[in-house]
Amino acid sequence: MNLSYKERIARRLTAVTSLIILLVFGIIYAVVYLTVINAIDRDLKLETDKHRNQIFLVDGEIRFAHKDEWEEQEHTQLQINPIFIEIVDLEGKSMDRSPNLQNNHLSFYPDRAVSGEAWTLKTGSRELRQMQIPLINQGTKEGYMLVAKSFEDPRNTLTNLRNTLLVLYPLILISLFLTMRYHADHSIQPIRRIIQKANQITQSNLNERIPPTELNDEIGQLTDSINGLLSRLEQALLREKQFTSDASHELRTPLAVLRGTLEVLIRKPRTAEEYESKIQESLKSIDRMSAIINQLLALARTESGTSQVKEEVELITLCEDIADELTKQKERKVRFECEVSAPIFVQCNEKSLRMIIQNLLENAIKYSPKETDVILKIDKQEEGAVIQVIDQGEGISAENLSKIFDPFYRQKSAIESMIPGSGLGLAIVKKLVEEGGLKINVDSALGKGSIFSIIFPLRS
Ligand code: ADP
Repeated sequence: MNLSYKERIARRLTAVTSLIILLVFGIIYAVVYLTVINAIDRDLKLETDKHRNQIFLVDGEIRFAHKDEWEEQEHTQLQINPIFIEIVDLEGKSMDRSPNLQNNHLSFYPDRAVSGEAWTLKTGSRELRQMQIPLINQGTKEGYMLVAKSFEDPRNTLTNLRNTLLVLYPLILISLFLTMRYHADHSIQPIRRIIQKANQITQSNLNERIPPTELNDEIGQLTDSINGLLSRLEQALLREKQFTSDASHELRTPLAVLRGTLEVLIRKPRTAEEYESKIQESLKSIDRMSAIINQLLALARTESGTSQVKEEVELITLCEDIADELTKQKERKVRFECEVSAPIFVQCNEKSLRMIIQNLLENAIKYSPKETDVILKIDKQEEGAVIQVIDQGEGISAENLSKIFDPFYRQKSAIESMIPGSGLGLAIVKKLVEEGGLKINVDSALGKGSIFSIIFPLRS
């Protein structure tokens, strides 16, 4: 059954409350019943004690003393709920009885005679509460005294109470269910508004937000969470759009150069040297485009979220190897410095780590003068092993430090100096560092140089 939230809440609360009310009603009925019974039994006991000592035995017959006074009282006083008393012999034969019994008799129940406990019995249409005690004379049981009181008035009271509770029970439950349903409906009203507004927000109006509530309750927190999610989505979408437009722009430039070169080339016949130089220019544009495409692919691979397989990597050997390789490739000295003598093992993906260090070293080479050294340094600090790429180049201004990891971002100086690059290298480094659970820090001053530090977490 697909019930609405308010219906479920109302049903559950009503079910729980119905059990509690049932218990309370049961207790009320039981307490009233026991109080009534105790009051009657107390009266019966008092009467029994009073008449027990006013009995005498003559010629084998048991009789009440002062019966005449008793009869007198019967005539002069109006008894509303009288107590009936009768004396029987051991066989249950009536010996004497209270005047108010007139020609009636109380029934003797031999099984109950000795218990002294009262019980309720039905004789015809009447209900009585009766008690029986043995009459003992000088250690010999002579007969029994039966004491009884009508149970009709208390029975009526108890029946009325029971009927009232039985009528009240469903009435209370129905009004409780309706009240709870109303309140549940009222309390989920803000959630309905959130759902309605959230359903209206699509990609075209992602800047809209759910109106915040003034209260800092769960509804307020839900609103804030959804609005936060929408903001993150909006930012991600904007970044995505920016990325796409930057990527097309970066590819369009070399394509335009290529097209221009080829158009110039076919306009008229050229010499062999002219053809060669134009083809060289075209090849450069193609190289630039493939470099951008390769970097875009590398970035896409890191963004696909496929977690890197971690392995044990020895940092000193790896860094020495990369420094040698780049020194040979770039014809620039990459100086390797290490103050730690013992091998340093870390858990990471070797291929990714190579890519990170190579990217940082290539930048250090690109953005520093030829005559200065680029340093690859390994150190062990309190926070863990650290690899540093140090250069004495142009540096990065403080305001640009937060932007250099954005895809396609390049400092103005880099563009103006025509240093080749696409602005994707550090974006790839950042993704790889995040995916590998590492940290990256940049310390740079304009005109002095930069230090990029990769920090490996301590092994637990
Ligand atoms: P690219 O080098 O292809 O331009 P990167 O993403 O690797 O792209 O770097 C982004 C920008 O950060 C560079 O254009 C450059 O302006 C700046 N940069 C990166 N490394 C250094 C460095 N070692 N010294 C100075 N500037 C740097």
